[in-house]
Amino acid sequence: MVIKNRLYSFIVLILIMACNSVNQVAKSPVSEELSKQKTKQTTVSTPPPVIAKPKMCLEMERMGLVEVRSQDISIRVVLPYASNDNFTGQVLYESSQYAYLQPEAAVMLAKASQLLQKQHPNYRLLVLDAARPLSVQQKMWNIVKGTPLNIYVANPKKTGLHNYGAAVDITIVNDMGVALDMGTPYDFFGEEAQPAKEEQMLKEGKLTQQQLDNRKLLRDVMNKSGFLTYNREWWHFNACTLLKAKSKYKVIP
Ligand SMILES: [Zn+2]
Repeated sequence: MVIKNRLYSFIVLILIMACNSVNQVAKSPVSEELSKQKTKQTTVSTPPPVIAKPKMCLEMERMGLVEVRSQDISIRVVLPYASNDNFTGQVLYESSQYAYLQPEAAVMLAKASQLLQKQHPNYRLLVLDAARPLSVQQKMWNIVKGTPLNIYVANPKKTGLHNYGAAVDITIVNDMGVALDMGTPYDFFGEEAQPAKEEQMLKEGKLTQQQLDNRKLLRDVMNKSGFLTYNREWWHFNACTLLKAKSKYKVIP
């Protein structure tokens, strides 16, 4: 009886092994085809999906920079240089939704965002520009070279804090996504945009107290988070000095 049972078990085992082997043989061509399809999907030169990050972004990630929204998802990002609706009239970025900073600066920005929302739960920071590769700086420079606007664009030979991922251009939007009135648009070339001239502009009636209060709110949360004000542009903030950035970071090509 024991011998019979053992014999039976042995036969069943052989049958199971045989079936598996048949299945493997039968599966094999399908697996090969699937594998071919997978290879095809990754190698065929079709246009990248809409969500694909531009090469420039991947390069910045490789350099250790981080997306500003990785630290605080509530921060808004719309980069005017990704459309032709900017002072150069040209498209300089491939995507308007990815803004990068050095990790320390991104953490500081998240702190600023939290401070803002503590005071005004319905307000959000809106990033207009952050890390700016030198190639983009060069394009800007070429556009303004020889025009009166050249004083507003840093010479790419000297490099600026944006080129190290240590500066951010920023404003505040309300819960409807509407930017607060800061007295001038972004990249406005005139005295009204300069924090250094605010009191004078107020006296001359070129800026209102409400506009200055909005700027002060932005400066308040940014300064408390460690950012430095730039006295020529209300929207621009440095995460550190240029000297420090040059010693710590590499310029983004
Ligand atoms: Zn700037």
